[in-house]
Amino acid sequence: MIFKELVQLFNQLSSTTKRLKMTEILSSFLKKTKCKDIGFVVLLCMGRIFPTNNEQELGVANNMMIDALALASGTEKREVMKTWKAYGDLGETAKYLMKNKKQVSLLNEELTLESVKDTLYKIPVIEGKGSVDRKLKTISRLLNSAGSDEALFLTRIILGSMRTGVGTGVVRDALSKAFNTSAEEIEKAYNLCTDYSLVAETLCNNPNSIKRLGLKLFNPINLMLYQKVTSVSEGFEKVGKPAIIEVKYDGVRAQIHKKADTIRIFTRNLDEVTKQFPDAVKYVKKGVNADNVIFECEMVAFNPKTNKPMPFQQLSRRVKRKYDIDEIIKEIPVKLFCFDLLMCDGKSLLDNSFEYRHNKLVSIIKQDEHIMMVKGIKTSSEEEANKLFEEGIKEQEGVMFKNLKANYKAGSRVGYGVKLKTHMKELDLVVTEAYYGKGRRSKWFGSFTLSCYDDTTGEFLTVGKLGTGFSDEDLAKMNELVKKNIEEETNTKVVLKPAIVVEVEYEEIQKSPTYSSGYALRFPRLVRFRPDKTPDEANTIKMVEDLL
Ligand code: ATP
Repeated sequence: MIFKELVQLFNQLSSTTKRLKMTEILSSFLKKTKCKDIGFVVLLCMGRIFPTNNEQELGVANNMMIDALALASGTEKREVMKTWKAYGDLGETAKYLMKNKKQVSLLNEELTLESVKDTLYKIPVIEGKGSVDRKLKTISRLLNSAGSDEALFLTRIILGSMRTGVGTGVVRDALSKAFNTSAEEIEKAYNLCTDYSLVAETLCNNPNSIKRLGLKLFNPINLMLYQKVTSVSEGFEKVGKPAIIEVKYDGVRAQIHKKADTIRIFTRNLDEVTKQFPDAVKYVKKGVNADNVIFECEMVAFNPKTNKPMPFQQLSRRVKRKYDIDEIIKEIPVKLFCFDLLMCDGKSLLDNSFEYRHNKLVSIIKQDEHIMMVKGIKTSSEEEANKLFEEGIKEQEGVMFKNLKANYKAGSRVGYGVKLKTHMKELDLVVTEAYYGKGRRSKWFGSFTLSCYDDTTGEFLTVGKLGTGFSDEDLAKMNELVKKNIEEETNTKVVLKPAIVVEVEYEEIQKSPTYSSGYALRFPRLVRFRPDKTPDEANTIKMVEDLL
């Protein structure tokens, strides 16, 4: 496929904000796309180069892109910066520069989807001495073969900010329409294999074989999520009686895959963290008495001196740590609290009841002080449930209520389990803008726009401004994250790529015309960063409305 055809599609998709129209445009395009191309086309439309379950990243930031644009267009870096300031967007800057290019390249090969893919896939493997320069030259060569519209979208693809508005929902519906397969079936397959390029290729080759895209060892899945309740009686109402009620631990959710001595640990974001947790790997080797297993647990940090739980913030240092692992294991050791079993002896248990999965899990865990079942009871009694809740909030975060008969629904918040916590006035939101501070802090970003997610359109809608209550450390961290995600810049603020998820507390929600969601949070305060969540896992506009 000629890359220009795809650029035409991107232009069409960008010209509408209507989800149905986008679905229609994409589905007609996918219908005529060859099966060998369809996977990459789908990924690019969503602004991705690699599938969600693949951790590779290009690692190209604005600065390198500016250098590449200068090189490709024969323009001084200063001029590129000036154009960027004028347009406020590097994609438009690339379009302008390539249109008015000073040097005409002699070898002007037509870009194809394949050549673009080959080049982009080469970038993450460029490593070692001189790698920055080699990456720069690779990108600039690619841009050099691009026309102006091609340059615009290539720049956005490379920087990971496509802005066509196509999210997983539109892709699911477009595939459903193009291949006459139900959206539910497609979503189910995606939640199990977590790769829309594979789903698209499979559908294109034979729509019936989509059923075979199931749970596979060492391929992380989208985990089932839990709804919120505000009281013990509501908990029972949602999941029925009797229920299994468990302590809700405050750690990192892990899905652990085990085959013989190979053990791999993934987060709920599908990131692999096996290297960061060799201690957990050891506990699983010793404590899981079955093979070809996928199970879920909460990894919780414990103070090595007092044996008391440590806050989540400490543990999140371990998730990111790539060096001196042995040191940090001693400083922040973890215990594993197991709570669900998705595969055992190579057989998927997703269609089994929770009670069955739970009992099977109990039977294969050899509990000791490092790996154990979550604390829980099976009961119909509100009194007993209340007692565990009191214990749960004292020691950890609250409790979970689980429906005994429910099967496992990957990737959805179906209400087969619910959570009851103390602090109910909390939301997970995305930071979408940052404002420069005043006076002493004028070089710093001092306040931040918070947005919720609209899962029907894939947009982020503003809902408040976060500006107080930061510790110096949190503010420094926020500034560092903001700088990595700038998409547009003006004199007073920057617009960000939706990437930073934060948990905030607030006093009240009010109706407000100031924010695009139509609601405003009063006195939002940062509780913690949520690096374990992706922006589309932030709370939705529907949830904000429900809290009013
Ligand atoms: P939260 O922000 O409340 O931790 P979340 O949005 O990250 O929740 P949910 O699926 O809504 O995720 O809530 C369940 C979370 O609670 C899971 O992410 C899991 O890590 C954690 N958890 C702790 N203990 C348990 C347990 N016993 N059973 C299930 N999940 C548990």
